[in-house]
Amino acid sequence: MAQEMTIDYATKRAEELRVQLNRWSREYYVEDQPTVEDSVYDKHYAELVAIEANYPELITVDSPTQRVGGGVLAGFEKVTHDIPLYSLNDVFDKEELFAFDQRVQKAIGHPVDYCCELKIDGLSVSLRYENGLFVRGATRGDGTVGENITENVKTVRSVPLRLNEPISIEVRGECFMPKRSFVELNQKREAAGHDVFANPRNAAAGSLRQLDSKIAAKRNLDTFLYTVADFGPMEAKTQYEALQELAKLGFHTNHEAQLCHSIEEVWTYIEKFHDQRIDLPYEIDGIVVKVNDFSLQDQLGFTVKAPRWATAYKFPPEEVETVIETIEWTVGRTGVVTPTAVMTPVRVAGTTVSRASLHNGDYIKMKDIRLHDTVLIYKAGDIIPEVARVIEDKRPKDSEPYPLPTHCPECESELVHLDGEVALRCINPKCPAQMKEGLNHFVSRNAMNIEGLGPRVLEQMYDKKLVADVADLYKLTEEELLTLDKIKEKAANNILTAIANSKGNSVERLIFGLGIRHVGAKAAKILAEHFGNLEAISQSDFESIIALDSMGTIIADSIVTYFSNEEVHELMDELKAAGVNFDYKGIRLEQLAEVESPFKDKTVVLTGKLTQFTREEAKATIENLGGKVTGSVSKKTDIVVAGEEAGSKLTKAESLGIEIWTEEKMAEALAQSHPVETEN
Ligand code: AMP
Ligand code: ZN
Repeated sequence: MAQEMTIDYATKRAEELRVQLNRWSREYYVEDQPTVEDSVYDKHYAELVAIEANYPELITVDSPTQRVGGGVLAGFEKVTHDIPLYSLNDVFDKEELFAFDQRVQKAIGHPVDYCCELKIDGLSVSLRYENGLFVRGATRGDGTVGENITENVKTVRSVPLRLNEPISIEVRGECFMPKRSFVELNQKREAAGHDVFANPRNAAAGSLRQLDSKIAAKRNLDTFLYTVADFGPMEAKTQYEALQELAKLGFHTNHEAQLCHSIEEVWTYIEKFHDQRIDLPYEIDGIVVKVNDFSLQDQLGFTVKAPRWATAYKFPPEEVETVIETIEWTVGRTGVVTPTAVMTPVRVAGTTVSRASLHNGDYIKMKDIRLHDTVLIYKAGDIIPEVARVIEDKRPKDSEPYPLPTHCPECESELVHLDGEVALRCINPKCPAQMKEGLNHFVSRNAMNIEGLGPRVLEQMYDKKLVADVADLYKLTEEELLTLDKIKEKAANNILTAIANSKGNSVERLIFGLGIRHVGAKAAKILAEHFGNLEAISQSDFESIIALDSMGTIIADSIVTYFSNEEVHELMDELKAAGVNFDYKGIRLEQLAEVESPFKDKTVVLTGKLTQFTREEAKATIENLGGKVTGSVSKKTDIVVAGEEAGSKLTKAESLGIEIWTEEKMAEALAQSHPVETEN
């Protein structure tokens, strides 16, 4: 009996959590209007994970836990599109655009309205829903036959797993990688010694074509949907209405779409985005102009491959010529040695550019980039300067292939290629360049966040042998600081204060700051939440790490290897002796999942006179037990606690059929519950 009740409760609770989490996620990813803190989301998510772990039969296809990726596929199944995905005819200038309008007007017999949309530079996808549930995602392929990428599409947060209406429909649109995600991904890949993506489009394509959906899940892809295969189940009569209707169903649609009443207006729209495209958070390669009215679209029909009722105005790619003057090599924190091209300054996409990363030796060889070559450069994701290609006709006669370095530019030790990496690496653990980068990382904003210690200051400290490792920072004295260039008394004191303050940081900052390979800020947080302190992490084993959400074998391996090093333990001892905090100061997720209280996630209203508590005490205690206390009774209220002489709120609660408690019942429940914030 008790068992059955628990299952009942779990079933109900899981459903509540799914609805709640899916709503928050829609607010965040689709509507761009988050209403709760990430930590609140995480807490509820953890609770759902815990319930599903106990009752796997409660996992549904629309559970947010299904977005983290699953098993690895052997290959992609083919998908035949019953209704093909069309491509678009292009125009490249105003004249061609106006000629398109002339053809339309001639066929229709009068001027028409156009729906103008941004041409998102991603990949077309087709998403199928049955009775409101997401069942299949496919790539465009050649328009008729694409690939089944359902598992990867599920990991895209803006794709609803359940629609707001239980309809069956196949929607189409673009899947893309936002510029920020692209830049971060490439930075990480370069630092880790992997090859980089040329642009967000390639990165999105590479992510959607991952056989391991866990990788796709980490790629921060997004979608804009703009049409359906068959308008049967929809009410819209125009493209502009279709966009609104798609948004209502729960899809992420692009808000820059605009209804234009003449081709002149279309041209104004194009000019506007020609100027503003750099500032958009995603890359566009043009503007799509569609005849708005579906009945007119039908009249115009299709050519063999594209609709006659639409055209794509293509922006010219911004590629600019310049000359490579020299190539510099720098050593990163993990020993990866990275080349940077230093070029004659030129303006590209709004800024002057004189440097571009060449990423790694293979990249230089592949593009056969040489000193004094004339190259075309562009901005990947409209942000990062990249060399597109060499203009070979302009290559100097005496040119020779660029010789890759064989030794570390800092410490002269021999460079190596590690397995599976394109990067050259210095593996000397005492390489000064790596030590300095390690210090920079330790003080950085997401790590220990010590202000006043810029790269110049740290470099001087290191060169003057004031600090050799991060623990030495905590032994610095004012006299030592005053020996540094440009550091006067005030600056020295500020630095000392900042260093002292950092001792109190919650431990995830320290974990991240240590620079353990593959352990980013997010992984550090997860480790801290789970293990509670640095000692516990240092003693954890491989199995207990991979058991954690989003921790893979590579991270686990790296952590275990790191802490198996004797020197690391010496460093920890030094940090401990200096008074650096090793404990996690936030709320531990698993404690939250363990909270047992009838107030958890309940909305409670207190009314009438309480005799055992003040209102404030009761409110604080309930909140500490995961409940929310509000002032007025509504349908959203779960429990009303009625003290003496309760009045209208009690009456209203009764009429709404809300659970009503006496003060005694509340007192008992409070006494039996465990608080959320227990000691670490
Ligand atoms: P193209 O690949 O140059 O032939 O252009 C056609 C492609 O543009 C379509 O297959 C879509 O993937 C893409 N596209 C991007 N944004 C839109 C949009 N708002 N409407 C229609 N197609 C779009
Ligand atoms: Zn070195």
